[in-house]
Amino acid sequence: MILILLGPPGAGKGTQAKKLVAKRGLSQLSTGEMLRAEVLAGTELGAHAKRLMDAGRLVPDDVITDMIAKRIEGPDQRNGIVLDGFPRTEAQAKALDEMLARHHTKLDAVIELVVDDNALIDRISGRYSCKKCGAGYHDHFEKPKQAGICDICGGAEFIRRADDNAETVKSRLQSYHAQTAPILPYYRHRGLLRQVDGMALPIEVEHQIDGILDAVSRSSVA
Ligand code: AMP
Repeated sequence: MILILLGPPGAGKGTQAKKLVAKRGLSQLSTGEMLRAEVLAGTELGAHAKRLMDAGRLVPDDVITDMIAKRIEGPDQRNGIVLDGFPRTEAQAKALDEMLARHHTKLDAVIELVVDDNALIDRISGRYSCKKCGAGYHDHFEKPKQAGICDICGGAEFIRRADDNAETVKSRLQSYHAQTAPILPYYRHRGLLRQVDGMALPIEVEHQIDGILDAVSRSSVA
């Protein structure tokens, strides 16, 4: 199964993608995580990307499609792929179709997490994650059970993304509305687009996504 999770920053794409990895054995391809790894590794690509990421702007299409092309062919993609944060422009969406066609495969579904812009600023500006295992938390909405200790791995160090601040979020939202939302009709016309209520609790969003994917799996074997 090849699936895209679409939605503005803070809609819950990463959270839901990780659940699909755990439950369905899909590989998560997150361009944001790949770029942050380049920044951490101190590469030239990372330095260039960081300037754009910190300004809430998109990284050029050719950089992103090259990164995805390398990963989409990897050996660990047999159970399928969940794309999180890619594609973000029409050019990326078309490049993805071409890549999949070269591999004699195609998209099964595009799930849009629909969220109110006003909620996103609060959601993003309070979020942080465990440095060791990546588990996500929030200053107000999802605190660890014991303050300062990760519920999952017991880690005591946490990190915040440099671009998760109220100012950058506004530019990231503008990029989403100007460059990413216009690709929704591209998928709607092909009957691939499904919407879920991203304002619901994460567990409810997870159930909505499960329902969609079960229906997609049934229709592909029917
Ligand atoms: P994310 O972790 O998906 O929120 O991405 C963080 C930042 O990385 C974005 O604000 C962009 O600057 C950059 N980025 C991630 N994915 C893409 C993409 N598909 N196209 C362009 N820029 C991207």
